[in-house]
Amino acid sequence: MEEISNLENTQPVCSICKTIVDAESIFCSSCGFPENGTDKDVAQFHAKNAMKKNQHMDADKKIKSARNTLYVMAGITIVFATITFFYKSRFSHINY
Ligand SMILES: [Zn+2]
Repeated sequence: MEEISNLENTQPVCSICKTIVDAESIFCSSCGFPENGTDKDVAQFHAKNAMKKNQHMDADKKIKSARNTLYVMAGITIVFATITFFYKSRFSHINY
């Protein structure tokens, strides 16, 4: 009985996503982490992940800046439209 529970406890688990990794397989089937791989494999995994993250952040930044540009442009348009409106209505009150 105790042996079985011990076996369950020592089952290799992915250190990233906690998915059970087969003793024969090097990489985690869920996230691709080289649980049974060499230090080099681990380093490559982290390097890949870091690159993915950076690319994702760049895309987010681009979307944000594009959105901000749109807001700024809309804001400027509204401000100018308001100024033009008041300017025109001010002068239209002057009747000769
Ligand atoms: Zn994993």
